[in-house]
Amino acid sequence: MHTPHSHHPVPTPEQLQQQLADAGLRATRQRLLILESLLVLPGHPTAEQVHQRVTGQLSSVSLGTVYKTLDSFVVAGLTRRVASAEGSRRRYDADCTEHHHLVCADTQEIIDYCDPKLDELIRGFFADKGLPGFQPHSFSLHVTGSRVVDLPTAESAQQA
Ligand SMILES: [Zn+2]
Repeated sequence: MHTPHSHHPVPTPEQLQQQLADAGLRATRQRLLILESLLVLPGHPTAEQVHQRVTGQLSSVSLGTVYKTLDSFVVAGLTRRVASAEGSRRRYDADCTEHHHLVCADTQEIIDYCDPKLDELIRGFFADKGLPGFQPHSFSLHVTGSRVVDLPTAESAQQA
C-alpha cells in the first residue's frame, strides 16, 4: 500500500538553491541532494533513508555526513526533528509549519495531522490556565495508535 505522502513534487534545482540561500547555507552538491531527498521522500524519513537515496546519485556521501548536514538544516530552520515516542531512530520533517503527528504503533508510520480547531483549543487551554515559568512557542501533539484501514488521513482528505 502506498502512503498518502508519496505525491511530494520534486523541487527544481533553483528552488533548492534558494532554500539553502535563504537559510544562509552554501549550496554544495551534497547539501542540494540531501535537501532534495528530504523533500521528496514520503512521510518523515530517517537519516538512513535520506542517505540511501543520496548515495544513489552521489555514492561518496557517508551516513555521518548526512546526519551532520540534517542537523545543520535543523539549526537553519530548514527541517525539524520529529519527536519520536520510541526514540529508536531520528526522523526528519521537511514541513516546518505547526502540525501534529499520528504515530502508528504497528508500522511506525507518522501521519501529519492539521486541524485549526484543535490548535485553537490547545492555545485557549494554555492561555486560560497559564504555564508558570514557561513561554510556549508552538504545540505539537503526538498521538500514538493503530492505523485503521481506509481511515482518511489529513493529506488524502486535502487531495479529495
Ligand atoms: Zn510532520
